[in-house]
Amino acid sequence: MQLPWKTKGIVLTAPLHEEVDNTVKFIREYLAPNGCNLICMQIRYRYQFKRHPECMGYDPLSEEDIKKIVRACKENGIRLLPKMNLHGHQSGLPNIPTDGILHGHHQKIPDIRDGLLRAYPELDETPDEPAFYSRSICLTNPLVKIILFDLIDELLEVFEADGMHIGCDEVLNIGLCPECRKYSNAKLFGDWVTAVHDHLASRGAEMLMWGDRFLNSAETGYQEFESSANGTDPAIDVVPKDILVCDWHYEKQTEYPSLAVYKNKGFRMLISPWRIREHTDNFIRYAIEHDEGQVEGLLLTTWCGSGDLARHMLYGEPGRWNHTEEIARMVRYIFEN
Ligand SMILES: [Zn+2]
Repeated sequence: MQLPWKTKGIVLTAPLHEEVDNTVKFIREYLAPNGCNLICMQIRYRYQFKRHPECMGYDPLSEEDIKKIVRACKENGIRLLPKMNLHGHQSGLPNIPTDGILHGHHQKIPDIRDGLLRAYPELDETPDEPAFYSRSICLTNPLVKIILFDLIDELLEVFEADGMHIGCDEVLNIGLCPECRKYSNAKLFGDWVTAVHDHLASRGAEMLMWGDRFLNSAETGYQEFESSANGTDPAIDVVPKDILVCDWHYEKQTEYPSLAVYKNKGFRMLISPWRIREHTDNFIRYAIEHDEGQVEGLLLTTWCGSGDLARHMLYGEPGRWNHTEEIARMVRYIFEN
């Protein structure tokens, strides 16, 4: 697909260790020749951190694993950025196939804490209660920045990256603990985003993040995962304008008022569709028609294991997750022709 923007990127989950070579081959033999120039690699805590090994997640990748991916990207002019989730999505149930992905869930049953909260359960915003959907980090505990900024630095270093995607989507648990309750959710979120931004800026790194918490659900009409119904959206007026906002929308829409929101507030943005062709077409068409210079490109989301996607696309193996083959069709639709 020909798009009128400079960036054509994809979010890949970091592969299992045993799938690293398949993912590298997919980057070299498919993504690079088809014009991909940005990969945000969702690694979360799945790296063999040296400063905080207690935070290592499931099947953590080694420095050597990461360097194989770094080399494949560098040799093909692809910008590679690590992606963490630095607020919500700290827990969930593992996806199928087991690939280290943690998804949120709605059941009131014990869920699996990811790296940081497994090591430091006291940093959970609701440590003693079942999470609704997914656990969140407490934003006022001073230990959070001390640990996470070390993890950020290690990832920037091993990925040789000039930026980072910090997630921050779908945060439903915020402002609930006794300390956080003293502040508005907009203040908590705005201060947190600004602090992470400033840390990245001090390392010369650009910050990307999901945009849903900046969109007022009632004003934009987006549903409460794609936008905020919990008071975080006024933070858009206090966070630094050089954040590159990734505006994800998966539901069926004919209008995308977020384009005007980011334009009016002075932000640059990427549009981020997912797997359903009609919805993706609507989003791209609207963005082309309503782009006033704020749109820098498209960042396709996938959410299947990158090894699963690679095996299906390189060798025709059946996808092991029920959405993988539909996602592969969207990858071809976006990156070919
Ligand atoms: Zn808190």
